[in-house]
Amino acid sequence: MNITIVLHQPQDLVNIGGVVRAMANMGLERLTVVDPAEFDPWRITGIAHRTEHIVEDARVAPTLEEALANATYVVGTSARPRTAQRNYRRPRDLAPRILRRAHDGEVAIVFGREDRGLSNEALDRCHEVLVIPTSPSHASLNLAQAVLLVAYELFLAGAAAPAELPTGKRSLGPATAAELEETYRALAAGLASIDFFKARKPESVMRVLRTIFGRTTLDAHEARLVRAIGYETRNRVERGDAAATDDTAGPREPLPPG
Ligand code: SAH
Repeated sequence: MNITIVLHQPQDLVNIGGVVRAMANMGLERLTVVDPAEFDPWRITGIAHRTEHIVEDARVAPTLEEALANATYVVGTSARPRTAQRNYRRPRDLAPRILRRAHDGEVAIVFGREDRGLSNEALDRCHEVLVIPTSPSHASLNLAQAVLLVAYELFLAGAAAPAELPTGKRSLGPATAAELEETYRALAAGLASIDFFKARKPESVMRVLRTIFGRTTLDAHEARLVRAIGYETRNRVERGDAAATDDTAGPREPLPPG
């Protein structure tokens, strides 16, 4: 299945063992570990027996950005909603969509470190954020148990789904996380060039835009169009009106960000 469990900076090997075991139990096989405190395949398979097929193929990535670059759908997880401007979902409601999106491209589900969870910056990279319902007085689950509950919902949703999901052929696949990040950089550059942010906080404006685009499914072509809007706006402002003559020819190659 095209679903990767991504652990961001896990601090405890025992938890990685617990995660791997939960994945094996629920039929998930792809693991990426980002900047772990330690990662020792031999000790992990000592904790979680018969999981070599997961641990030996696990990817260790230096940054979250690298881990997510090829993902076309990124789901974060959080013990509690922190800022209002996000797409929060329950695992049971989101599981069918996660499975559908795994047909189209690579889905990443991101879990945070044991002591701090995911930073706002990390959550900004997620199209939607899963919150597992809990007692309000103890919202924070153990990392491996959080993975187990999400994987369990995916397992149930997979069993309930018809064997062959209807898939409309798209002309272009969904945009990858790396393409979307470039699109957001271009939009921010365009908005800054027309002084749109003024008293607004760029970070909050961009978060709302990320939330909106996170709810839709931009394909690669659509992401490029939005990106061109951002860069063309900036280019036009930087060139001044006089130099901007022939704009009927469609978007030009955008300048690199900067
Ligand atoms: N002290 C941290 C908790 C980190 S728990 C905080 O309050 O944010 C480690 C990770 O387990 C979290 O980053 C998240 O990925 C997952 N997790 C824990 N409880 C969860 C919950 N109720 N819903 C969704 N994910 C949860």
